[in-house]
Amino acid sequence: MKPAPFLYYRARSIEEALDLLTGTAANGKLLAGGQSLVPLLNLRLARPEALIDLNGIPGLSYIRSEANEIAIGALTRQREMEFSELLAKELPLLAEAIPQIGHPAIRNRGTLGGSLAHADPAAELPCALTALDARLVAVGPGGERAIRAEDFFTGFYATALADNEILKEVRIPLEKRAAGWSFVEFARRHGDFALAEVSVLLFADGGGRCASARVVAGGSVERPIRLTTVETLIQDEISPGAQASTLADPTGELLRIAPVAAARAEVAWLQGEFSEVPEVTEAALDLAVQMQSKRVLGELRTWRRRAGLQEAVEPFVAEPYAVELAGEWERASALWAELGCPYESALALADAHSEGPLRRAHEQLLDLGARPAAAIVARRLRERGARVARGPRPATRRNPANLTTRELEVLRLVAGGLRNAEIAQRLFLSPRTVDHHVSAILRKLDAGTRGEAVAAAQRMGLIQDR
Ligand SMILES: Cc1cc2nc3c(=O)[nH]c(=O)nc-3n(C[C@H](O)[C@H](O)[C@H](O)COP(=O)(O)OP(=O)(O)OC[C@H]3O[C@@H](n4cnc5c(N)ncnc54)[C@H](O)[C@@H]3O)c2cc1C
Repeated sequence: MKPAPFLYYRARSIEEALDLLTGTAANGKLLAGGQSLVPLLNLRLARPEALIDLNGIPGLSYIRSEANEIAIGALTRQREMEFSELLAKELPLLAEAIPQIGHPAIRNRGTLGGSLAHADPAAELPCALTALDARLVAVGPGGERAIRAEDFFTGFYATALADNEILKEVRIPLEKRAAGWSFVEFARRHGDFALAEVSVLLFADGGGRCASARVVAGGSVERPIRLTTVETLIQDEISPGAQASTLADPTGELLRIAPVAAARAEVAWLQGEFSEVPEVTEAALDLAVQMQSKRVLGELRTWRRRAGLQEAVEPFVAEPYAVELAGEWERASALWAELGCPYESALALADAHSEGPLRRAHEQLLDLGARPAAAIVARRLRERGARVARGPRPATRRNPANLTTRELEVLRLVAGGLRNAEIAQRLFLSPRTVDHHVSAILRKLDAGTRGEAVAAAQRMGLIQDR
């Protein structure tokens, strides 16, 4: 489709743009990178009488450090921000978020100001800048005003900007340096808008403990919102499991409560804290009994049995849990394998009473990189007098570089030409975790570059030559 007719003005200064906006082109729209506005025009979802192009205004594109702040001009392209060494050094959260905006072609044209003024709830910049407590400087007929990012986004594609105001600059304070940060998003495909995204900043006290946090969610909400409950939980150093329960339990929904209970039971089991398992599963179990949820009952009863509890099991528990709870380890393991669940298949053997199945469980868990679970099984084998090598599994002929299953998975994607950010998206990992995996791969393969690592892996037959 083509846009409806419009007049076109190319402003040479902010003053001229403001004059046009308040006078001749009062029903006009500002044009920056055009990456959101032009599609709207083409689809005739926007039909402004005029466009006021900001691209001819000098001095609106910059990234600079000023008196404990970073100032970024509204017309600065997202691609320039992506490659800014200053931003990478001073505001790594922003540097982590920007490559996740669309694709390079979009970031080449798309601007900081355009993304903020457009206020898509799934956009990365509004979420990251709200976490960073940025001030957005708007200029209008009455002069300039600074709006905190938290107050700027007022709803779905809605901002605190007046019709006759232009976003001129964004200022991000540097007084409080974050000791830790992360920007993670979930999108259906790389480059899509996020279905859910979250920015996290952690601030440490003098002793290196977390003193405060800023956590902002976007995507599934109508504007970036601070998750203040989560911030408090982090600040109070409540364990992640207890934090998850604090958020899930008040919902009263089994769908939310059960996965948290199961995860907490697993963590307690892996840490050898068996006595915690009954407590963390109690509430979810009661709810599952009430609702006769076969699968949840199976999962929770199985964790309780693994923790040593001998209790009656409801007759309607789902398979393969029911089989496992009946002590048929081998059959349960085979059923899990058929369902494509190798971890559960290995765990089903972990309670077996004889050495053979325990050894298989141990090997399978090591193959999966599930070291804590493997260590538990190794202990059980030793208690039975069996010999089990300590430390990481020695290299095998099949895997001479001793890469873990996850490292092999990452290596295959590296060989496919994917960048770390893309690998992170594909495997639902954080970019930093992928960085660690790639470093480990290079070290284990004694390679200086990704290309050398791929070549070495191909020579060893770890991955196919393409
Ligand atoms: C295929 C595709 C995929 C995309 N994927 C993503 C993504 O994953 N994440 C993401 O965040 N974005 C994504 N975008 C949008 C992209 O980031 C845009 O660049 C951004 O939303 C708008 O910036 P712009 O400079 O192009 O603004 P424009 O499209 O020119 O303008 C957008 C709006 O902002 C107003 N405006 C622009 N500048 C100013 C200013 N200085 N003051 C006041 N109002 C102003 C305009 O009037 C208009 O209403 C995608 C776009 C496309 C086409």
